Amino acid sequence: SADRKAQIGVTGLAVMGRNLARNFARNGYTVAVHNRTYGRTRELVEQFGGEGDFVPAASSEEFVAALERPRRVLVMVKAGAPTDAVIEEFAALLEPGDVIIDGGNAHFEDTRRREAALRERGLHFVGAGVSGGEEGALHGPSIMPGGPPESYESLGPMLERIAARAPDGTPCTAHVGPDGAGHFVKMVHNGIEYADMQLIAEAYQLLRDVAGYSPAEIADIFGRWNEGRLESYLIEITAEVLRHTDAATGRPFVDVVADRAEQKGTGRWTVQTALGLGTPVPGIAEAVFARSLSGHAELRAAAAALPGPQTRDGGGRMAPDEAAAFAERVERSLYASKIISYAQGWDMMRAGSEEYGWHLDLSATAAIWRAGCIIRAGFLDRIRGAFTNDPWLPSLLADPAFAKELGEAQQAWRDVVAAAAAGGVPAPGMAGALAYYDALRSDRLPAALLQGQRDFFGAHTYQRTDREGTFHTLWAEDR
Ligand code: NAP
Repeated sequence: SADRKAQIGVTGLAVMGRNLARNFARNGYTVAVHNRTYGRTRELVEQFGGEGDFVPAASSEEFVAALERPRRVLVMVKAGAPTDAVIEEFAALLEPGDVIIDGGNAHFEDTRRREAALRERGLHFVGAGVSGGEEGALHGPSIMPGGPPESYESLGPMLERIAARAPDGTPCTAHVGPDGAGHFVKMVHNGIEYADMQLIAEAYQLLRDVAGYSPAEIADIFGRWNEGRLESYLIEITAEVLRHTDAATGRPFVDVVADRAEQKGTGRWTVQTALGLGTPVPGIAEAVFARSLSGHAELRAAAAALPGPQTRDGGGRMAPDEAAAFAERVERSLYASKIISYAQGWDMMRAGSEEYGWHLDLSATAAIWRAGCIIRAGFLDRIRGAFTNDPWLPSLLADPAFAKELGEAQQAWRDVVAAAAAGGVPAPGMAGALAYYDALRSDRLPAALLQGQRDFFGAHTYQRTDREGTFHTLWAEDR
């Protein structure tokens, strides 16, 4: 009937909005649905109306009138200016205490700005990171809502119903923190995702070009790794992609795809933000740069004739035993590098939390990434455990269990990075992760020399290891 009230409204019914609306409806909620172009609304109800209780609304006024109070409006439109326009359109129709949720990929600074403006008008604004793509939206995403804590009282139970569930049954959503905290954490998730994908890609190339395995054999190796500590959605789909044969040519799919990686920008945002916060995240930065490099056809063409290393026996396959042993070392190198990338992501969340006063629960973030999102893996439960044991853990590298694993992997990791260099295979992720590990554990860094250089040319002064105070050397006179 026309006067039944919806518990939630979704506006913006492209893939993500449509699937989230269906997810709410399948979970027993009455869902008001709206889209700028009515065709999408009609299509949703025609195709999926049987799945649950939808209230189609042709206008924004009709949409708002269909909602019970406090109203909950989930905005799933294109990020940027369209999101601002749609928020403004609905804010004008809502009343104090109502909640607007932006589930799009907003930059957290935009979310902070929007939250502050809507707070002035008595409205709750929740920037929610949603990960898992369109499948996740339908079957259970990982949801990272920020915004005022009160908003979670009315919204949280609904999000918990539609979110993915971790293996222990807990929903993969929680109130992350105030204002832009949800979108910040989603951004870091994507940065970690970039790093993870880059490391997996490097492992593939090493297995192919150094060990001489075929894509199908590498698919089997990843399949086995997926039963061990590297178990994850990304490893699983990597095996599937590598096993896939191109129907048109009969060749391995991976050999017919153009080797230029694209990006939508959340990885770049992560690195830009990390630079601003002063947090070193080289693993994420290397992954963003590796994608960018792959797309620079002119640079690649300009360097294509440069010499590479003299390969052993002209390249070719390693003997089976040797290849198997190498694959074992690549697994260790991948795992160790993965710990490093995640450590950098968590460093960044700690830094963001301090900068913006969010009081992020670093253990809860790991918990809500255990299922639903792209980096989902049993590994996240280990990180959750590390920050549960010690909420003040200064780095994941300081966790006794991870430290032990890094120690066990480090020799193989060095061998693999050395093999990459010797074989002329670029492995910036693994090599950079190893450099990060070695830099952090070093007793003395050459930063001491940098300080000398800075004092020499700019009188920037330095501190000493043996005395308190600030010093400057009169370099010209000492010469
Ligand atoms: P999208 O292609 O980003 O956006 C299309 C939707 O935005 C349509 O409903 C469109 O309405 C609406 N729209 C665009 N400009 C508008 C305007 N000025 N006023 C009103 N409506 C406007 O859709 P999507 O892929 O479903 O993604 C939605 C959001 O989720 C985005 O922020 C995206 O970044 C984020 N996200 C996407 C994924 C993913 O896997 N795709 C995953 C996580 C998050 P019309 O039908 O009228 O054109």
